[in-house]
Amino acid sequence: MKKFLNKNILDEKIDIKSLDYGELCNFCEEMGEKKFRASQLYQWMHQKLSTDYDSMSNLPGSFKEKLKESTRYTCLEPIRIQESKIDGTMKFLFRLYDDNLIESVLMKYHHGNSVCISSQVGCRMGCRFCASTLDGCVRNLTSSEMLDQIYRIQSISGERVDNIVIMGSGEPMDNYDNVIKFLRLINSEKGLNISLRNVTVSTCGIVPKIRELADLKLQITLAISLHAPNDELRKTMMPIANKYSISEIMDVCRYYIEQTGRRISFEYSLVKGVNDTPECANQLISLVRGMNCHINLIPVNPIKERDYRQSEKQEIFGFKNKLEKNGINVTIRREMGSDIDGACGQLRKSYMEDSHEGGSVN
Ligand code: SAH
Repeated sequence: MKKFLNKNILDEKIDIKSLDYGELCNFCEEMGEKKFRASQLYQWMHQKLSTDYDSMSNLPGSFKEKLKESTRYTCLEPIRIQESKIDGTMKFLFRLYDDNLIESVLMKYHHGNSVCISSQVGCRMGCRFCASTLDGCVRNLTSSEMLDQIYRIQSISGERVDNIVIMGSGEPMDNYDNVIKFLRLINSEKGLNISLRNVTVSTCGIVPKIRELADLKLQITLAISLHAPNDELRKTMMPIANKYSISEIMDVCRYYIEQTGRRISFEYSLVKGVNDTPECANQLISLVRGMNCHINLIPVNPIKERDYRQSEKQEIFGFKNKLEKNGINVTIRREMGSDIDGACGQLRKSYMEDSHEGGSVN
């Protein structure tokens, strides 16, 4: 069956950058092209990071025309770039082919450059402290749209991307298939070949999907947004807690560690007077004691739509010390780019509000 050409009949253009190498070979064959064209095309897209077909100098013009007709070539358009004067962090606002907007961040660390990418336009998880979710989820990102955040950032900044964190807007386990395909493409030898050990996927804890992910035995780092040490409190911060209990999350994390041999990371955003008490620290210690894990404390980044405030320095360090004294691996996340719209989804939101009010948008 002509899998790829049939798709065209339905007037759905093929999202060519989301095809893996094998799929691209089949596609080229169906187009009546030699197999080596797939290799050239793949290299232009995933290694040379071309922005369009016209720049692919060793492809015949007739083939390029056919490609333009039958495919959609994902190339994100940067519409706003902010650079921090403090630490060089860069925030990118990109426009997608259907005019939706997403944001991504480049953070420069001593150990290399990290890019934080979005996995959806908006998010439907409704976490109380998060700006990405305020207007709900518009749609999933395709694998090519996730890849191109990295490709464009590498091209624009001239910086090599070493690490990737899927911690931007969206819930990756709510867009599972495209995220898995993205992981395979970014790790492909014929592409950027980024080791999965350098990729972190962060989830609010969708238990069945974490189980499925565990079975793939990928070497990624899994980060779980825990944020509270008991269900009652977690429910006030994250609606997903009504669906999956902390004990179910802990069970699936143990399964994940067993299957992959990888250490789990727990994210815990500290909110003043809400989850930063010594009692919370004690409960957290009992939850994770003996587990191969790491805790990442994030002083919450306040958003204007909510009244959550950041814990005081004293509470943050007190919390950390308590965990450390109990032998738990813990770090406080360094705040990056605090002089540019910091928290997830804030750049997109402020841009959309400006545009809406007819203010300056660039
Ligand atoms: N949906 C995924 C990934 C996106 S958010 C998840 O829930 O993990 C990435 C991390 O930033 C999550 O731990 C999220 O809870 C946290 N986060 C979101 N908004 C924040 C804010 N304003 N302050 C601190 N952490 C925040």
